[in-house]
Amino acid sequence: MGVTAAEWLLQELGVTEPADIDLEAIAHYLGVRVRTRPLDGCEARIIGVGDQAIITVNAHSPPRRKRFSIAHELGHWKHHRGQSLVCRVDDYRPDNRISPERIADRYAADLLMPPYLFGPAVQKQGKLTFKAIAALADAFDTSLTSTAIRAVEANHSPAVLVCHGQTGRRWFTRAPIVPERWFPRDTLDAESVAMDVLFGRKPDNPFPRKIGAEAWFDRRDAERYEVLEQSVRIGAGEVLSLILMNDADMMDEEETWSYRRK
Ligand SMILES: [Zn+2]
Repeated sequence: MGVTAAEWLLQELGVTEPADIDLEAIAHYLGVRVRTRPLDGCEARIIGVGDQAIITVNAHSPPRRKRFSIAHELGHWKHHRGQSLVCRVDDYRPDNRISPERIADRYAADLLMPPYLFGPAVQKQGKLTFKAIAALADAFDTSLTSTAIRAVEANHSPAVLVCHGQTGRRWFTRAPIVPERWFPRDTLDAESVAMDVLFGRKPDNPFPRKIGAEAWFDRRDAERYEVLEQSVRIGAGEVLSLILMNDADMMDEEETWSYRRK
C-alpha cells in the first residue's frame, strides 16, 4: 500500500510520534478552524468558503469521539471540497464500500493512526489482547473499537474481530493473513464468553480463553480446531470479540483433510 494523503500531511508536519498528532494545529495548517458547540443529532459538520472552513464538533461527545469527528471532517475537506454533502459521522467500522463517508472515515483513521506510526507500535506489542489494544488506544488517543480494527487489519496476529449486538452480528473484520473461508457466525454461540458479556452475566474477559472454533465459525472442519476468544462490552448492547487463531492449519488457503490415502 502506498503512502496515504493523511500520512503525507503528517510527514510534511514532521510528526514522528502519536503524541504529536495535534488535530487543532493540523486543522489550522489546512485553513480550518475548530469550534465546539452543543449539536443535536449530529457529531460534527464542516462549512467551507474558498480555502477557509469551520468545523463544528458536538460539545456533548466524549473526547476521543470528538477527535475522530474532527479528523473525519478534515477528510471531507481534503477529498470533497466544494461538494455539497450531508455528513453523517458514525462509529468507525470496517467497510470496503466507496462512499464519501467511508473515504472521510478512512482519512480519519489514517490521520489518527497513521500506518507509519501505528504499524511499528502494534508490532511492539507481544500478544494481541484487548489490554494491548487499550494501551495503543491510549497512545494514539483513539477509541478501543477503531484501534482494535486497525490492529487486526495491521496483520499482527491471525485474528478476526467481530461485533455483535443483541440481534446478531453487526460487523467483522479479519487480518489479511486469515483465509476468507473463516467467516464468523451470525449469532453468538451459547458457549461463547461474548454471550455472557453481552447479556451482562459476566464481566469483560480481556484475556484470551480457549474455545472450540465451531463456536465462532459455521464450518464442518471448525470442530477440529480451538481458538482463543476475548470479549468486551462496548457501549450499549454491543460486544466486541477478538478471536485469535493460533493453529497454523487454519491459515492454509485450502481446507486440509484429516485423512490420507495410503
Ligand atoms: Zn462525513
